Amino acid sequence: MDHDSPAIIVERAYRRYRSGRRDIPALDGVSLTVDYGEWIAIVGPSGCGKSTLLNLLAGIDSADEGSVSLGGKSLTGMSENALAAWRGQEVGIVFQFFQLMPTLTVLENIILPMDLAGKNRDRHSRARQLLDQVGVLDLAQNLPSELSGGEQQRVAIARALANSPRILLADEPTGNLDSRNGGIIVDLLEQLWLNGTTIVMVTHDAAVAARASRTISMRDGQIDDDLVNQPSSLVSLAVNG
Ligand code: ADP
Repeated sequence: MDHDSPAIIVERAYRRYRSGRRDIPALDGVSLTVDYGEWIAIVGPSGCGKSTLLNLLAGIDSADEGSVSLGGKSLTGMSENALAAWRGQEVGIVFQFFQLMPTLTVLENIILPMDLAGKNRDRHSRARQLLDQVGVLDLAQNLPSELSGGEQQRVAIARALANSPRILLADEPTGNLDSRNGGIIVDLLEQLWLNGTTIVMVTHDAAVAARASRTISMRDGQIDDDLVNQPSSLVSLAVNG
């Protein structure tokens, strides 16, 4: 990985979906550069292309035109296998509905991505350390269905961190949680960010977006605003702490 390059560069990305006879321009010429150390909130009305953009960054989907590179490596034209291997190592992904494996224990859910990446050493101790970091180590032997939504999302964040990615992508990470649990998840994201993880998160919650360091607003498949946020949470941390 090239450490001097930005974390993410998207250049004139287009993604169209065919719906009946219409072409829907889900992304209509998006360009974006994210540096390591940023915490980006992508906001905008439903259907404006937020998830499509995040899926391009995750390598889950690819652009019809334009290019996407992460950590100085271009995803454009990468084979499906290469993308899958890359995805497991360079980015961690958190979804609105957690998407934990229901038949695996919490601990096994964390170990799985390390297995897939061929990391066989210290998997158990690393998994336990990650569960401790997100505050659910006592649930290691439970099944996901035995956990609350907030607890499942903490496990999902631990899983996303399993292979030590430098970039964390999150699609509505608090979208399925009540405000208390949503607050716990945002606090956790903030801790990760303060410890050096670059975060790109989609959210429709203005209070959640305000915690990020930069807010990118989308409309009709395009970026129509890009603002550096006042770090209000850090100010309050300084005042209180
Ligand atoms: P957002 O995340 O902002 O709600 P999306 O990125 O999910 O928006 O969708 C952008 C546009 O692309 C919407 O009009 C949506 O209906 C359309 N779209 C997204 N995914 C598909 C798909 N798989 N097939 C057809 N249309 C899609």
